[in-house]
Amino acid sequence: MKVPFLDVGAAYRELKDQIDGAVARVMESGYYIGGPEVDAFEADWARYCQADFAVGTGNGLDALVLALRALGIGPGDEVIVPANTFIATWLAVSAVGATIVPVDPDPASHNINANGISSRLSPATKAIIPVHLYGCPADLDGILDVAKDRGIPVIEDAAQAHGARYKGRRIGSHADIVCWSFYPGKNLGAGGDGGAITTNSAKIAERVRMLGNYGSRRKYEHEILGTNSRLDPLQAAILRVKLASLDTWTARRQKIARFYLDALRDADLVLPNAPDFADPVYHLFVVQHQMRDKLQSRLAERGIATLIHYPSPPGQQNAYRDDPSLAEGFPIAQDMSRRVLSLPMGPHLSMECAEYVAEQLRRLTLSDC
Ligand SMILES: *Cc1c(COP(=O)(O)O)cnc(C)c1O
Repeated sequence: MKVPFLDVGAAYRELKDQIDGAVARVMESGYYIGGPEVDAFEADWARYCQADFAVGTGNGLDALVLALRALGIGPGDEVIVPANTFIATWLAVSAVGATIVPVDPDPASHNINANGISSRLSPATKAIIPVHLYGCPADLDGILDVAKDRGIPVIEDAAQAHGARYKGRRIGSHADIVCWSFYPGKNLGAGGDGGAITTNSAKIAERVRMLGNYGSRRKYEHEILGTNSRLDPLQAAILRVKLASLDTWTARRQKIARFYLDALRDADLVLPNAPDFADPVYHLFVVQHQMRDKLQSRLAERGIATLIHYPSPPGQQNAYRDDPSLAEGFPIAQDMSRRVLSLPMGPHLSMECAEYVAEQLRRLTLSDC
């Protein structure tokens, strides 16, 4: 049997007629930048996220950069980020010239929490960016409390958390700004790059919109130094079609996750363990094992594709070699990078495949690979 890690084309095949129709509608409309499809998706996405405003951006990294810029963060400011995340969270901070302050995650949840953050606060801390890693919400109330005491804004990196809930309410407006990616492999993915921010602040929404549109509200009037980062109508039209299926797809991911959790409960693996406050959406289903590399190759021999998120923390990437303080002192992030393994997961993974994955994994771990 061959089990792919994720079949990204399956969502298109499921909704082919509707997506093809949406693409043709945009091409025939003559609106290739902005216009009704983008407005409609932004309204749909804000409503879905239980937020007052959504503003499309070119991609998820830009959403983070524009969020930081909208808050006026730049050189001399410190921004707290997880030591274990996709590098984009860090690159956004670097892009605005601010200083990265990594925090080691809580080993049980993979996410940073209020305790870890408190220990790294300084008078220069100007923002905190928790990441809902793998689709499991971070403990926002604790983080927001710490931040509010000191008047520090919080930006959620929700690039992996479409539809996830924290204490029953959808991710989308707990913090000051929430950043989204619609990269094709995300739980809600476009047919190319795309991103957005959601917020309950009209001021922040307008600021992000201006920044992403040449610093302009009206054509040829440029009030601030902006850039070009907009969600385009083709992507917006595709996303609108797919959004109608997101809850069904999330339910399928959760069903597979429940199956894995049950079938692997006595395997020699550390399984994901969602805190009570979180309804995760399993962008990734990440297990941990002492002999991860060996386990991964044994699974590959059996036709099972797995990935590693992420093989090294951002602070140990060459891109950050100029600042050795970012590389050392984060033992949990370091340890996770050696042990994590992401199992096949997605709305179109068959139960037959999931059963095969679980069966092979149980056998391999119980016999020391
Ligand atoms: C995917 C991702 C991003 C970046 O999104 P892009 O749309 O690829 O720029 C940022 N943060 C996290 C945690 C991500 O997983």
